[in-house]
Amino acid sequence: MAQVQRMSRLMIKTLRDDPADAETLSHKLLVRAGYVRRNAAGIWTWLPLGKKVLENVTRVVREEMDAIGGQEVLLPALLPKEPYEASGRWDEYGDLLFRVKDRKGGDYLLGPTHEEVFTQTVKDQCTSYKDLPVILYQIQTKYRDEARPRSGVLRGREFQMKDAYSFDTSDEGLAESYALHREAYQNIFRRLGLDFRICSAVSGAMGGSASEEFLAPAAAGEDTFVDCPECDYAANTEAVTFALQPVEGQDHPALEELDTPDTPTIETLAEHLGVPASATLKNLLVKVDGEIVAVGVPGDREVDLGKLGEQLSPAVVELVTAEDFEGRDDLVRGYVGPQGLEKVRYIADPRVAPGTSWITGANKPDTHAKNVVCGRDFEVDDYVDVVVVEEGDPCPKCGAGVKLDRAIEIGHIFQLGRKYADTFQLDVLGKEGKPVRVTMGSYGIGVSRAVAALAEQSADDKGLCWAPEVAPADVHVVAAGKAAQTELALEVAEKLGAAGVRVLVDDRAGVSPGVKFTDAELIGVPTVLVAGRRTAEGVVELKDRRTGEREELPVAEAIARITA
Ligand code: ATP
Ligand code: MG
Repeated sequence: MAQVQRMSRLMIKTLRDDPADAETLSHKLLVRAGYVRRNAAGIWTWLPLGKKVLENVTRVVREEMDAIGGQEVLLPALLPKEPYEASGRWDEYGDLLFRVKDRKGGDYLLGPTHEEVFTQTVKDQCTSYKDLPVILYQIQTKYRDEARPRSGVLRGREFQMKDAYSFDTSDEGLAESYALHREAYQNIFRRLGLDFRICSAVSGAMGGSASEEFLAPAAAGEDTFVDCPECDYAANTEAVTFALQPVEGQDHPALEELDTPDTPTIETLAEHLGVPASATLKNLLVKVDGEIVAVGVPGDREVDLGKLGEQLSPAVVELVTAEDFEGRDDLVRGYVGPQGLEKVRYIADPRVAPGTSWITGANKPDTHAKNVVCGRDFEVDDYVDVVVVEEGDPCPKCGAGVKLDRAIEIGHIFQLGRKYADTFQLDVLGKEGKPVRVTMGSYGIGVSRAVAALAEQSADDKGLCWAPEVAPADVHVVAAGKAAQTELALEVAEKLGAAGVRVLVDDRAGVSPGVKFTDAELIGVPTVLVAGRRTAEGVVELKDRRTGEREELPVAEAIARITA
């Protein structure tokens, strides 16, 4: 017997108008349909219907984690600072961390994620290679003092996360644990009915699949990702790398200097010469660990300093300042060219390939040079893809023009390696009797965020529209209003309930049929059954919330259809 929830007894207050502070669709609809209620910025109450959806998502996540051998635990959310001090994150997290003091003045925090504490747990519980591999997970409340907790439960300061951690004795073991999670995540998001893409989160530097994000395309998303309309390629904007394609067999005229007064920027230069910015080579000077380095990109492209930093990490990348030019006569600001830049390391984007020809600075004031050919007039020390990716750039996999889309990050899988194991000296006794350092993975899913992502992707102009697996009920039975209609509605609801169907039945007295229908659409249960004008004949109307298709059927047939 599944639950039959009578709306006359359900604590629900639907709203006709969007809350004033709501910016995203999911925020508006989840509040209006009575699923959640805001307590403070980024802090939410899950009301009865919302709690059901959250539970359904949690159940799917738990089932799929159990299926890969994950063991569920529950760690505290209130944590001592020491392990986070040991890992350096007590400081690194800065303002994101909720810090708490106890009565004795001791420092604590509300856990934002739990790598440290899981590492300690395994150090305490596992001593031999025979105890590994282990996958542990929890579904728990996390705390992050987000700078902009604006989008409802999409970005909370208190939120539900499933965080899992794998512990292995070898790199191959870690790769296997990672693959298991990747598979489980796909099963989870498919079952939830989410449209998602798997994106490599970091570029080359850390190795291909060391980290991937699961993104749910949605207008409300705060992440931009690169999506290929022709193949299955998808990646974070920072992770897209353009292949180096040397241009061969072209005969370039000799390098020629041009008098170009007052043209220190690409715009002024392009205008003066009447050429497109893409014909020019822009050379940005930056400091890498204090040393001046030139970075060459086509004049019409922007340099992504974050991407550059990521590629050169752990080096620190900074912009140059006027003082850096003191005593550097070789660097003519605004007129830098890679030819004859002997004392400076030259990094270039792969678009500046061997055999390409450019207009660029001549390293003299008010002078540029044309026919400056890569490989003939200058050499590139290192190729690093550092430009901001743009719509229409070629897909690294199939070459088609890519699109830039917005998405919500719903999950993240990450091969951590031995970082935390080193911090906490997590070793187990190996086969040969010697200690072996453990290697770890960490895997997160935003459980409460997934509810908002589902709402974003499935809602229409009438309201929410849940997939069966996550919906707060299977069927929404509406009694149009008269006593006989309510009687039939309750009777049908009981029969469905007895057959294991989860039912929400709108038996409210004194509420007009119009309001009930509008509420049913707003609440978004997949199937709506109406006891309306043909109640006396024992005929009800069955409606598909998603397609709007409706059909009149005798009660018994309607029940048979639903329970089939
Ligand atoms: P974001 O870039 O959106 O801040 P993150 O990279 O900080 O996310 P992780 O540390 O990888 O997130 O956390 C794992 C998962 O937890 C994320 O993939 C996301 O789904 C979820 N999550 C992270 N922050 C929040 C939040 N403030 N509210 C709700 N869910 C969150
Ligand atoms: Mg992340």
